[in-house]
Amino acid sequence: MFPKPRYQKKNPGWFLLSPKQSINYAQVFSEEIKPLALFWEQKWQTPLLFSSFSTFNLLLDFHLQDEQYHLSITSEQITISAKDKQGMAYGIATFLALIKEENKQVFVEAQEIDDFPAFSYRGLMLDVARHFFPITTIKKVIDVMAQLKLNVFHWHFSDDQGWRIESKVFPKLHENQSNFPASTKGYYSQEEIIDLVAYAAQKNITVVPEIDLPGHAGAILAAYPHLSHHEQLAIRTTYGIAKEIMCLGNEQLLSFLQTLIEEMISLFQPRYFHLGSDEVKLGECKKCKHCQQALKKHQLPHFLSLQTHLIKQLSQFLKSKKIIPLVWNDIAGEVLDASLIIQHWKPFTWKRTALAQSRGHQIILSPFFNYYLDYPYSMTPLKKVYSYNPLLNKQIRSHAILGLEACLWTEWIATEDKLFFHMFPRLAALADSAWRGFDQKDYREFCDSLAFFEQWLERQQIPYAKGHYQQANIFVRILRTIKWLKNKQIEYEKQQED
Ligand SMILES: [Zn+2]
Repeated sequence: MFPKPRYQKKNPGWFLLSPKQSINYAQVFSEEIKPLALFWEQKWQTPLLFSSFSTFNLLLDFHLQDEQYHLSITSEQITISAKDKQGMAYGIATFLALIKEENKQVFVEAQEIDDFPAFSYRGLMLDVARHFFPITTIKKVIDVMAQLKLNVFHWHFSDDQGWRIESKVFPKLHENQSNFPASTKGYYSQEEIIDLVAYAAQKNITVVPEIDLPGHAGAILAAYPHLSHHEQLAIRTTYGIAKEIMCLGNEQLLSFLQTLIEEMISLFQPRYFHLGSDEVKLGECKKCKHCQQALKKHQLPHFLSLQTHLIKQLSQFLKSKKIIPLVWNDIAGEVLDASLIIQHWKPFTWKRTALAQSRGHQIILSPFFNYYLDYPYSMTPLKKVYSYNPLLNKQIRSHAILGLEACLWTEWIATEDKLFFHMFPRLAALADSAWRGFDQKDYREFCDSLAFFEQWLERQQIPYAKGHYQQANIFVRILRTIKWLKNKQIEYEKQQED
C-alpha cells in the first residue's frame, strides 16, 4: 500500500473474509464504512450486515491522536480503531489495500498496524489562473490526493492572467474574459465551488482559497481598474512578475477586498485563507500620491510596510471570522501577527523564514527547488522530491513545521495530461514525507511501494511520468533542463513519442 504505514508488524496466520461476514461499528463512522460495504457488494453481490456481536469491529478510541488509526488483524478478529472520521477513513483504506485473493479465498494476513501522519497539513497547490482546468479535472486531483492521504487542496484561482470564480458582488471579475486567449478561458460557477468543497470534505480534504494580493492581481485590476494605478488595464497574456499592483493608498481597497473575501468565505467555509503577498513590485506605489499619503497617515517607515499593513488588516478580518490566514514567505521578515502561517517557497530566503519561526509563526514548506512540480523531472527528479529533508537545515526547527505542500503553477501546462505528467509520481514523494516524516528515508523501498500507487493510477486511467523519474546523471539533467527552459515541452513530448 502507499504511503506505507509508520509501524507494521506481521504475525503468523490470516483472517478469512466471506460474504457472510458482519460488522460492528460506532455510529459516528457510518459514512467512512461505505468503501467497505462497496467492496462486499462488488465482490459477493451481498450487503455487509451490521451485527453488535461481530468479529469485525470499528471502534472509537479517544486515546488516539488526530487522524491516527490502529489496525489489528488476528485469525479470529479484525479491529480498526480511530479517534476521528479521518483516522477511520485512512484505516479502512489501509485494510482494503491489505486484502488478498488466492485460490478463490479472500483473506487478510494477521498483523498489527499503528499509523498516523507526521504533519497535520499535507497539501497540494494548483494554479488555475494561468490555465483553466474544469471541475472534472479538479475532482480527479482530489481523488488522487485522498489516495495519497493528503488533506489540503490550495486553490490558486486569481492571478494576473485570470480570475476563475463566479462573483455576484463583483461580476466583472469572471465576466471580463473577452480578451483572454482562447486556450485559457473559463471560470467555475458558485454551485460548482460549493459542490467541489463538499466533494473534497467527504474525502477528508479541506480547500484553501487564495486571492493573491496586492501583486499578481492583474485580473482583479483589469476588471476594476479604479483599484490600480491606471485608468484601464488589459488582462495579462505574458508571464513573469508584473509591475502593476493594487494601489495601497486607495481608500476603497480594504472594503473591496473584505467584501470579496466575505463572498469567497460563503462559498468555501474555509479553515484557512491564503492572502498571497508574493513578488510585489512596489515601484508604482513609490510614485503614487495616494500611497505616499497613506504612508504618512499610518506613520509607516517604507512602502513594504504599507503592504504589510494591508495584510495585517486582512488577517485581523479573517481572524474575527475564526479563519487562519496564510501568506507566502516574501514578507516573512516583517513583524506580523504570529497567528499568520508562513508558506516558505522562495530560494535563498531561509534566514527570513527562520526569523518568522522564531517570532512564533508556523511554517508550511514548499521550497522551490524541491516541491515545485511545474519544473521538469531533469531539474526536480523524483528522488530529489523524496529525499528532501528540511531538518538538515539547522535554521529550521521541526516543531514549527505545520506541514508540506507541493506547488503546481501552470504557465507552461495547458492540458490535463501534461498536468498529471508533472504531478505524478512526484506528488507521491511529497505525500510520503508528509505522512511518514523525514527519518527512515529509503529511496529504493519507496520506489517499490510506489508500484501500488501507479497500478491504482492505471486503473483510474490517470496518466503519469512513466520511467522518467529514474535519475539521469547530473550532466544529462543539466542539458535537459536547458532544453526545457527553451521550449518548456521536451519531457512531456518525449513521453508521447515513447
Ligand atoms: Zn497608489
